[in-house]
Amino acid sequence: MHSTVVLEAVGYSPSRMLPHVLALSPTELVEHATASGVPLRIEQARRILVDAWAHPGRAPSRETVGARTRAAVASLLRHERVAIVERAVDPGDGFMKYLLRAADGAEFEAVRIPLHRPGRFTVCLSSQVGCAMRCDFCATGRLGLTRNLEAAEILSSFLAIRDEAPGRVTGAVFQGQGEPLHNYDEVIRAAERLRDPCGGSISGDAITISTVGLVPQIRRFTAARLPFRLIVSMTTTDLQARARLLPVASRFALEDLADAIRGYQASRGGRVTIAWVLIAGTNTSAREVERLGELFAGVPIIVNLIDVNDARDGGYARADDIERGRLLDRLAAAGIPFIRRYSGGAARHAACGMLAARRVDVGPAVPTEPG
Ligand code: SF4
Repeated sequence: MHSTVVLEAVGYSPSRMLPHVLALSPTELVEHATASGVPLRIEQARRILVDAWAHPGRAPSRETVGARTRAAVASLLRHERVAIVERAVDPGDGFMKYLLRAADGAEFEAVRIPLHRPGRFTVCLSSQVGCAMRCDFCATGRLGLTRNLEAAEILSSFLAIRDEAPGRVTGAVFQGQGEPLHNYDEVIRAAERLRDPCGGSISGDAITISTVGLVPQIRRFTAARLPFRLIVSMTTTDLQARARLLPVASRFALEDLADAIRGYQASRGGRVTIAWVLIAGTNTSAREVERLGELFAGVPIIVNLIDVNDARDGGYARADDIERGRLLDRLAAAGIPFIRRYSGGAARHAACGMLAARRVDVGPAVPTEPG
């Protein structure tokens, strides 16, 4: 696959000899320190990690462990942070978009998203520098893949944003640049550390991982019985349109994708969120809704409608109120619940058409007025 070739050609190898403190669990830290000749108890490891998450970029402090152990453990780990290069707030919605820079100079983005509850935020995280999925409506997809992000880089981006948020960050969504399941191991490691009480202390239910629809990775995710939520981007059920809009994802048969989603739902329960990037004149027809109903007959889903966010002149346009309203009515008539989400940061040209979004309109099987 094209993406594999790119990864091998430009894969980033920072000082791999040392693990980054943010990427380790307490048990892993004990094992790493002990194997390196520094005996460490699990409670000491927990204190070191809590301290590292409270003060990212700093070596273990005096309070966590004794001075000799502290220095020895510090020398066994990396502690570097990603740097904030630029911030841009959208005055209309309060989304704060960040440009971040990793140690090798690679730049990527993340977005702080205000939740409905005042003083609460979630962070939309990138999983890769660029993306290999080449979704045609997405600015990141047109850039191609530069490299995967390490779990520690993802977590450092989260902490950079958390630490200057004017309130509490209570969630994370892997829905920024990159296809999270194309960087499966590092993304899952990052999600696990976000959930760890010695790490981000975020509920697994508040950690969402999106995918453009990589069937083997969805099955792997399901088999691992992970506590995180999965959102699958479908966008269209028309095979020709899929080949154009989602060229990599379209290599998987729709029936296989639906089967993988059915397996995920069966293992977890609840509704599966199906993301639908709404594009004028492209994926709003009655036939789309009909096929969606057929594919997911008997599977509880909720369709998450996101307006396309294409910065390219003459590219894909957002559906107007009338066209969007027709689609919502069709979904309602078919008994398919939907959420219309606001694709934030448009004024700042948020790069990914799937960028995280906040709920503006919930319409489970209820006709919705256009607009
Ligand atoms: S929409 Fe998401 S998966 Fe598709 S190219 Fe953009 S970043 Fe990659």
